[in-house]
Amino acid sequence: KQRNGHEPEFLQAVEEVAETVIPYIVKNDIYYGKNILLRMVEPERVVMFRVCWVDDQGEIQVNRGYRVQMNSAIGPYKGGLRFHPTVNLSILKFLAFEQVFKNSLTTLPMGGGKGGSDFDPKGKSDNEIMRFCHAFMGELFRHIGHNTDVPAGDIGVGAREIGFLFGMYKKISNNFTGVLTGKGLSWGGSLIRPEATGYGTVYFAEKMLETRGDGIKGKNVVISGSGNVAQYAAEKVIQLGGKVLTLSDSSGFIYDKDGIDAEKLAFVMTLKNEKRGRISEYLNKYPNAEFIKGQTPWKIPCEIALPCATQNELHEDDAKTLLNNGCICVSEGANMPSTNQAIQAFHKAKILFAPGKASNAGGVATSGLEMTQNSLRFKWSREEVDNKLKDIMSDIHKSCLEYGKDDDGYIDYVRGANIAGFVKVADAMLAQGII
Ligand code: NDP
Repeated sequence: KQRNGHEPEFLQAVEEVAETVIPYIVKNDIYYGKNILLRMVEPERVVMFRVCWVDDQGEIQVNRGYRVQMNSAIGPYKGGLRFHPTVNLSILKFLAFEQVFKNSLTTLPMGGGKGGSDFDPKGKSDNEIMRFCHAFMGELFRHIGHNTDVPAGDIGVGAREIGFLFGMYKKISNNFTGVLTGKGLSWGGSLIRPEATGYGTVYFAEKMLETRGDGIKGKNVVISGSGNVAQYAAEKVIQLGGKVLTLSDSSGFIYDKDGIDAEKLAFVMTLKNEKRGRISEYLNKYPNAEFIKGQTPWKIPCEIALPCATQNELHEDDAKTLLNNGCICVSEGANMPSTNQAIQAFHKAKILFAPGKASNAGGVATSGLEMTQNSLRFKWSREEVDNKLKDIMSDIHKSCLEYGKDDDGYIDYVRGANIAGFVKVADAMLAQGII
């Protein structure tokens, strides 16, 4: 706390892990007295750099770029890049810390990292985005590599940005390797990668519901966000027979009481991915829906909630409202969307609650599968990748059960995910000595 007191999001993420992992360390001699958690909270390396680029008016703009290389005990650093004005070291260290545990849970050999910039892609032309991405990679390229550090997308970094970043890496390194994931299909990308985080979040919810003899079919589902994760979470819910009632962005949320079906979702995907419009424009096409400005969707009654936008978007009050309205299952698509107080409320009510590091791990897991396909110079079919994704989500669920079952049978997925993720990384760190 003394060293990182000015980094609230990072402290929040560490506290959530420490609360569950420290009691486990105390009970297990192989970890006790080795300061293992203290070593894990210190990034192996942080790179910060200047990014200069020229906007469409010919003006020189300056942004700050980052890469946090958190832990490489079990594999090359792996984690997304975020372009958003709120990006700072606290946000990126929290994301990198979470990523270490998440990547460990996937069963694949990936360490944890995260990076990005305070650059705001909103309202920028394609040419401005390209110039920024090229400038950003002009420095980042010397710190990454397919066996060193493999970045991917996150908020503000989608297929378009990965393309520009990859192009610049290839040019200046003179090397065509799988150094980024989320690539286009014709140049090394994996089928199902765009869908993987959202689909995985819903597969995980289905696994949790199965423990109570239940399923997604016929359930009302409230989703926040309307980006990559939210779109594909919605698609999978619709495919499994659930009713999606809401989507949102930073300006507010839309509530469609008739349900957002496949056709309406296709409209949202074009609106968001091609036209780069606002979610409120949904009403131009579907005027029966409502747009609630400046609010999150948690007051809409539902059985399942999928927070898929950003960190700390679901507070204690929201948790209580969801519970009062009969919510039985929360599966996090975003990273740390629920505050620790909200999580406590879910646990107290003994509903099914999955932390992002377990339920949204399908994205990075499929990135891991993209890396494998790049190394093999081979491509798996859509069905093969989807089946592997389902198996991985099921394995993560099993790991949570192994370490998260309370005496009364309630499954604490937070404890389960934290301890299962910790054990693998800690064992590797201990084996490799004090470095
Ligand atoms: P996108 O940029 O595609 O979409 C982000 C969505 O969240 C947009 O609808 C955006 O609205 C909204 N949003 C972003 N910031 C805020 C904010 N401060 N307040 C309210 N709404 C906000 O990102 P992704 O869908 O890729 O990522 C969403 C979450 O999922 C993040 O937490 C990310 O870390 C996590 N995640 C993503 C993975 C992936 O594979 N993409 C993997 C694992 C986790 P607006 O357009 O108005 O900004």
